[in-house]
Amino acid sequence: MSDAIEKLKIMVSESENIVFFGGAGVSTESGIADFRSTDGLYNQKYDYPPETILSRSFFKRNPEAFYKFYRDKLVIRGAEPNMAHIRLAQLEAEGKVKAVITQNIDGLHQAAGSKNVLELHGSTSRCNCSVCGTPHPVSLLNEGTAVPRCSACGGVLQPDVVLYEDQLDSDVLAAAVHYIRHADMLIIGGTSLVVYPAAGLIRYYRGNKLVLINRTATPQDNDAALVIRENIGEVFRQI
Ligand code: ZN
Repeated sequence: MSDAIEKLKIMVSESENIVFFGGAGVSTESGIADFRSTDGLYNQKYDYPPETILSRSFFKRNPEAFYKFYRDKLVIRGAEPNMAHIRLAQLEAEGKVKAVITQNIDGLHQAAGSKNVLELHGSTSRCNCSVCGTPHPVSLLNEGTAVPRCSACGGVLQPDVVLYEDQLDSDVLAAAVHYIRHADMLIIGGTSLVVYPAAGLIRYYRGNKLVLINRTATPQDNDAALVIRENIGEVFRQI
């Protein structure tokens, strides 16, 4: 075990109110593409750029193309939680981790057993009607080739995710701020911390145990008590 991971293990053992904030890197070790990485969705060829297809206006204008892309690229098939998800769920059960805040939409923290998960960008594991809001089985989004329709009003069904041009859910954002503000330890993993809202949320942390686990450098490295540049699943496997 490296000195840094040994130090992390000690910090976790001495903390009682840990909050974890995770980005795409948490799920890449479960085989889920990072939108922004070099081999991620943003570099793939489609008739439109992914950020256009995954926008609210495109969803309304062209749900057929939205669902073709969605079913090709965003539906999670066979992905399993990795050791980061699993260990965070264990630490929550032990009473140490109070909240997991995630930018991912794959539901893998819940699949690992985490209860208090704040999903800043929503989740592909829920489905509702874009017109009347009625919940529907998520299988309607994931299967077939037709645009899925609401059984109550005929409106187009949607995944419960924040699309480009949508606002973040203000209740989720407020809860994230609350947990970060009261955390005695904040672990941030799998994000380069340059994209909103991650860069802004970190400012609410008032403790002295900020840990950054990311493969590459982040703008906050100098403010952290500990920086670990290793794969996050491997780090959590050891603590
Ligand atoms: Zn409806």
